[in-house]
Amino acid sequence: MVEKYTVRIMVLDDESFMLKLLGHMLANLGFTQVTSCDSGRAALALFDSPNNPPDLILMDLNMPEMDGIEFVRHLVERLYTGSLILISGEDERTLQATVKLVRAHKISVLGHLQKPFALEALSALLEKWTHSSLGSPRAAKKVYGADEVRAAIDNGELVNYYQPKVAVATGELVGVETLVRWRHPQDGMVFPDQFIGVAEAHGLIDDLTRVVLIGALAQAKVWQDAGLALRVAVNVSMDNLASLDFPDFVAGLAAKAGVPPQAVVLEVTESQLMRDLRAPLEILTRLRLKCFRLSIDDFGTGHSSLVQLRDIPFDELKIDQSFVHGAWTDETLRAMYDASLGLARQLGMEVVAEGVEDRNDWNLLLRTGCDLAQGYFIARPMPAADLPGWMEAWQERVRSEFAAKD
Ligand code: C2E
Ligand code: CA
Ligand code: CA
Repeated sequence: MVEKYTVRIMVLDDESFMLKLLGHMLANLGFTQVTSCDSGRAALALFDSPNNPPDLILMDLNMPEMDGIEFVRHLVERLYTGSLILISGEDERTLQATVKLVRAHKISVLGHLQKPFALEALSALLEKWTHSSLGSPRAAKKVYGADEVRAAIDNGELVNYYQPKVAVATGELVGVETLVRWRHPQDGMVFPDQFIGVAEAHGLIDDLTRVVLIGALAQAKVWQDAGLALRVAVNVSMDNLASLDFPDFVAGLAAKAGVPPQAVVLEVTESQLMRDLRAPLEILTRLRLKCFRLSIDDFGTGHSSLVQLRDIPFDELKIDQSFVHGAWTDETLRAMYDASLGLARQLGMEVVAEGVEDRNDWNLLLRTGCDLAQGYFIARPMPAADLPGWMEAWQERVRSEFAAKD
């Protein structure tokens, strides 16, 4: 969670009344480091001063000199890494189109507010933001060095957690996603966003993936032998798809573990798929020919999703959690969710919705016929040893909570 007083917010609106109102609202919500600007030019001047850029910008779209979209272009040039909330009196469709446009520039948009809006609407957006690690660039998270990550891999400090993927129609457990954790001797449990990037940047990702894969395959075999036919998914970094022997490497490990390739899902993040496609394309196609299942992860967050889908034979599409949680009530999210679902359907892919956090999210998947669900509503990632206990509790929940409905 972000400490509210350390969060720096910029409010950009040409109406001084709105600036005052927003200032009051933010103060009410406990945000004290707020800067107001009445034009894009003034805001950019602040950006170019030696001050740190804000963590969040609340921006009006309709401004006389420099409008919101032009301002966003300047943000992109300045490599802005913070988040954005769009405010406008425009109709919902225009706002949605703008959100899409801004996201295409890889700027994180928390959402939009249609004028006039209530304090609660603003509060909900900010709440979402302060709770997500994505939106907390200043939450002092330790960054580990390459040597430390190397040692963690070598010393067996990485452990696999598993998060269930269940069939929405029946509640049946279909598979799990392997999510790596670092059991740090001093710092406790360290999450992947604190070391995957380091591993990728320092040529350690092949070793990390090998360790995770070996562990996941061994676990898959244990489940298989216990009569539990689970598909086990492993996250594959784009950097793993640079070496052409990756398919043989994965096939070798699976054969050695005694796990059929049909039971192994390789999740590839689409946004990373954007770079040079030639080697990855060949590698993924060969993995597919070897009967491994391919999943396109975080769908909807990248640029040319459609190109990837045309060229690579994915079996599964994972709708990114940012378009799932809350899609039942937010039209923009819902549009992205529906589009992703429809696309996967047309291409005959199985669809997984990630980030299913509550009953409302679940009901939307049920209504729209989404195949699989994954998220805190069903289960948090857990050590393999906790799975049997969770399964029992889940089956009970399915019987009592879900079956009763129809
Ligand atoms: P991902 O592949 O998108 O994995 C889903 C992330 O969402 C996981 O975070 C999971 O704990 C979290 N999550 C699950 N359900 C919910 C929910 O209902 N709400 C919310 N807000 N979050 C949920 P985690 O475990 O921290 O992993 C973060 C990312 O790190 C993963 O994102 C994946 O890209 C990467 N990662 C994890 N393990 C590995 C690995 O072994 N290799 C590689 N290359 N990357 C990995
Ligand atoms: Ca994943
Ligand atoms: Ca994902």
